[in-house]
Amino acid sequence: MQRKILLSEKDLPSHWYNILADLPGGPLDPPLHPVTKQPLSPDELSALFPRALIEQEMSGERWIEIPEEVRKILALWRPTPLYRAYQLEQALETPARIYFKWEGASPPGSHKPNTSVAQAYYNRKEGITRLTTETGAGQWGSSLAFAGRLFGMEVRVYMVKVSYEGKPYRRIMMETWGAECIPSPSPRTKVGKAILEKDPDSPGSLGIAISEAVEEAVEREDTHYALGSVLNHVLLHQTVIGLECRKQLELASDYPDVVIGCVGGGSNFGGIALPFAYDKIHGKDVRLVAVEPSACPTLTKGVYTYDYGDTGKMTPIVRMHTLGHDFVPPGIHAGGLRYHGMAPIVSRLVKEGVVEARAYHQRAVFEAAVLFARTEGFIVAPETAHAIKACVDEALAAKEEGKERVILVNASGHGHFDMAAYQQYFEGRLEDYEYPEEKIREALSALPQV
Ligand SMILES: *Cc1c(COP(=O)(O)O)cnc(C)c1O
Repeated sequence: MQRKILLSEKDLPSHWYNILADLPGGPLDPPLHPVTKQPLSPDELSALFPRALIEQEMSGERWIEIPEEVRKILALWRPTPLYRAYQLEQALETPARIYFKWEGASPPGSHKPNTSVAQAYYNRKEGITRLTTETGAGQWGSSLAFAGRLFGMEVRVYMVKVSYEGKPYRRIMMETWGAECIPSPSPRTKVGKAILEKDPDSPGSLGIAISEAVEEAVEREDTHYALGSVLNHVLLHQTVIGLECRKQLELASDYPDVVIGCVGGGSNFGGIALPFAYDKIHGKDVRLVAVEPSACPTLTKGVYTYDYGDTGKMTPIVRMHTLGHDFVPPGIHAGGLRYHGMAPIVSRLVKEGVVEARAYHQRAVFEAAVLFARTEGFIVAPETAHAIKACVDEALAAKEEGKERVILVNASGHGHFDMAAYQQYFEGRLEDYEYPEEKIREALSALPQV
């Protein structure tokens, strides 16, 4: 019985896998300028991103070398373990073999530093000394704070004000790594000032925080902006997850029938699934399942079309699955994964039938997470819990059919700072919420005309 399948440091992937070289349906549609609605030129992105990342965003090279300096830092926690979930299998009495990849092993506790480290590296290499970003609950902000520190950069994080006040521990992590965390809206930017003038008690939103971080990056020569999901280069950096899994499953003489990940912007799912999507596009029989909340059903109820990346209409317009840039998930939803859009790569793969999507209500999601904690021990993030729920359902389906099934699921992060959500679940304060069709139609009516 092998409980965990480990790779050694020398097995850390040497290259990222770039699915743009293999994407069914041809190249992605070009991102458009938010005002002129014309295709963006690389120059227009250079106020925000370093040249190397802009190149990766559009590259057709299948394999892109991971710089030695990046691998050195990834090696702090990578390769991450792949676990065989024997106790969960037993509890479910399933003939399925369940494997989970543990991305909670990184210092900030999720998959996000796989890209924050690479992004900090390329920015520093091109002479940038400061990074700005936004964060909601604080996972991305803390991952960028960690990476920035290791490359000696200043990091400023605009944190949505309600989270800043209600979730202090992620903020203190950022400060521990030396980053500056500012409640958004703030009086430091024009966008923030304008909002505070109208509403001094504004609770903030991710859209506002993005606008503040972008404004600061555009106005300062020494500063760039960093984004933690959605973009092609972010998914590229995350493919170390799936590449490691392929080697680990080989060691276990197994291959997955189904690969599962939760989706917010699509980066951890892309990370585990894209190397297997390559296999699938080249004839292998493997199902790829993206799991989202019923309260924010981007892939299952959104439309595949051009939309803004943010509420403030400052980011490029991209073709993706979207619920409309004005979409706001209900306050009652505790499980994260709140973004209105989806990575263009994941959206395209769903459209082409390479990836299937499903949505779950939050009570069932937390029930699965508690079962996972009580069998496998790890307490996962509420986001991750969506993937665990799908994994449990796949294992039960295998039992129903009386057939073996190999399930690979990405455990994207730990939930140690999300205990308030677990508490809400235990106290019966979580409600299931199906986002109403007419509200989705309303949000979709404001799509840009391109
Ligand atoms: C941010 C986050 C997610 C959602 O983001 P993706 O880009 O869709 O991966 C999922 N799980 C954890 C633990 C996260 O921190």
